[in-house]
Amino acid sequence: MTTPVDDHQDLRDAIRALFADFPDDYFLKIDEARAYPEAFVDALTKAGWLAALIPEEYGGSGLGLAEASVIMEEINRNGGNSGACHGQMYNMGTVLRHGSDEQKARYLPKIASGELRLQSMAVTEPTTGTDTTRIRTTAVKKADRYVVNGQKVWISRVQHSDLMILLARTTPLSEVRKKSEGMSIFIVDLHDAIGKGLWVRPIPNMVNHETNELFFDELEIPEENLIGEEGRGFKYILDGLNAERTLIAAECMGDGYWFIDRARRYAGEREVFGRPIGANQGVQFPIAEAYIELEAANLMRWQACRLFDAGEPCGAQANMAKHLAAKASWEAANVCLQTHGGFGFATEYHVERKFRETRLYQVAPISTNLIYAYVAEHVLGLPKSY
Ligand SMILES: Cc1cc2nc3c(=O)[nH]c(=O)nc-3n(C[C@H](O)[C@H](O)[C@H](O)COP(=O)(O)OP(=O)(O)OC[C@H]3O[C@@H](n4cnc5c(N)ncnc54)[C@H](O)[C@@H]3O)c2cc1C
Repeated sequence: MTTPVDDHQDLRDAIRALFADFPDDYFLKIDEARAYPEAFVDALTKAGWLAALIPEEYGGSGLGLAEASVIMEEINRNGGNSGACHGQMYNMGTVLRHGSDEQKARYLPKIASGELRLQSMAVTEPTTGTDTTRIRTTAVKKADRYVVNGQKVWISRVQHSDLMILLARTTPLSEVRKKSEGMSIFIVDLHDAIGKGLWVRPIPNMVNHETNELFFDELEIPEENLIGEEGRGFKYILDGLNAERTLIAAECMGDGYWFIDRARRYAGEREVFGRPIGANQGVQFPIAEAYIELEAANLMRWQACRLFDAGEPCGAQANMAKHLAAKASWEAANVCLQTHGGFGFATEYHVERKFRETRLYQVAPISTNLIYAYVAEHVLGLPKSY
């Protein structure tokens, strides 16, 4: 299967070559053990793939979002799950765009080399959910430190990260002009914080995804760990979302093509009633339909990449790409499972694992309804609904 609009074959071949050491069974064993794919993430890091978006002056490869998206797509397309490591690729964007020269020099080269992992970003809270401006975690300035109290939920990869971006309210909601003001972001050194004001409770969940509840009790953060200006943190987080959404769209594309490929292969091999099941229109048409949906979603993904890399506004395209790709990959997942019949449920076919993994993307990092709300309000000019 080819994807007509992109021409990153060398890049794709390089990522695929890495998978010679990480076959399907590697990911199956990791999933069964609910373990972290440490060797795989190390190999990606050593090869420099996770530093794709870091400028060359800081030791990265300074590639565009299009190339970065190909890396994420290929990880998922070859049977892996970028969810284990995609944070390392895009969380640093906050430091790159809004950090001081000193912060950039301190963190980015070490993130590029993999010496430091900045895999976590703590935004979501249990009581506020998607209504981010109502977060209750506070950071209060005391002399040369900020003191943090509050709680976060669903914060991923904390146990496999050295650093974490934290969003907290620095000015009470009642004292700001606009509810999006008065929040700030900090870089938290997790080794300094865990057990000394920060407690981490893992959340067992449907996929093998390391994610946690965080409890802050008088956690002290040095003032130099504030990123950018105090009070502008929400805007800084929003600035990073277009890249994140486009990369997630690419991951969904990778999953989607993986499902189509497995469905196609199985439909050609499995014989029932004396012929391959794929000879039946009832089996082949849903596979063809899912493929068509994927190809259409992919066009929006490339459009988002093109605009982002040209420095043009791309909020609508990034959101729509993420939505279309997540929907298409889920449809492909269903078709793949159905094509495999009972064997789709057997772990050794890997379909059920990928099926669980790709379902996440209609909920996180943003749920489908909130994308509809974005398009309704910002593209179609309808009244804000929340
Ligand atoms: C595995 C996993 C990993 C995650 N990792 C991270 C992470 O690393 N960092 C982080 O900060 N967060 C993370 N999240 C959180 C994720 O971003 C949120 O779960 C997601 O944004 C949805 O928020 P919520 O769960 O609070 O749902 P809620 O906001 O409680 O919403 C529940 C449902 O109601 C719908 N809904 C809510 N309000 C409206 C409305 N006004 N109109 C229409 N529908 C509405 C939503 O679309 C959703 O379907 C992760 C979540 C998961 C499951």
